[in-house]
Amino acid sequence: TVSIDTISKRYGETVVLRDVSLSIGDGEFLTLLGPSGCGKSTLLRIIAGLEVHDGGSVSIGERVVDHLRPKLRDVAMVFQSYALYPHMTVAGNMALPLRMRRLRAWQRLPLVGRMLPGTRKADAEIETEVSRTAKALGIGHLLGRKPGQLSGGQRQRVAVGRAMVRRPAIFLMDEPLSNLDAKLRVQMRAEIKELHQRLGITFIYVTHDQAEAMTLSDRVAVMLDGELLQVAPPQEIYADPDDRRIAEFIGSPK
Ligand code: ATP
Ligand code: MG
Repeated sequence: TVSIDTISKRYGETVVLRDVSLSIGDGEFLTLLGPSGCGKSTLLRIIAGLEVHDGGSVSIGERVVDHLRPKLRDVAMVFQSYALYPHMTVAGNMALPLRMRRLRAWQRLPLVGRMLPGTRKADAEIETEVSRTAKALGIGHLLGRKPGQLSGGQRQRVAVGRAMVRRPAIFLMDEPLSNLDAKLRVQMRAEIKELHQRLGITFIYVTHDQAEAMTLSDRVAVMLDGELLQVAPPQEIYADPDDRRIAEFIGSPK
């Protein structure tokens, strides 16, 4: 369970999050839905430990994770901009989290008795894992290319693949489909849904696209101006919005 308890955040004078509380169950697909600028990315980055908040707390399982470094959390994030390294190949980008993890494990060993980090066996294992994941995402044939030589949809798959190789307990996705054309967006939506069903792990997904939120989610959390207005299954949000502003944003009949 991920528990978000009265989180607040401001940038200078601007309040970006106002006492946001939310609990996300294991294996749940929860979507943060709201218009541009309402604070979705900020909240996701706080959950990931990439941003410091002003008040409240985030816990994952039994642990309050506020003061832990993001590396110690079992989460992986797909960014709004994909954030791939342009000078590295697809394989290199996807292997990076595994290489970093190996390096950190090595750094924790006592100085005496440390061996060189780059053993061939470990390299081969990483390569196998990367190629298995790439095949599952239909990008197995692209491992030698660089991000600049890929289409938007392919880049998006690489970003998902890079998050997947770590086998995180929690998957955070920030508008992963926003750079794609309408047709590909619908196709990738189905793939993300399939991925969630197959992995059975917790997804916290951010979008400003109602259709996307409605088709993907177990529950939708509607945000507006830094506030969480309603958290409910998609049908309920649509049929019974708590607030006129939600009804307007969703375009529901009420
Ligand atoms: P979008 O759908 O456009 O991605 P969002 O809901 O993800 O929007 P955030 O990126 O969380 O919105 O931003 C929330 C608010 O905080 C916005 O008004 C934004 O301008 C402001 N903001 C975000 N980052 C910073 C920053 N580093 N410094 C100052 N203001 C910021
Ligand atoms: Mg955003």
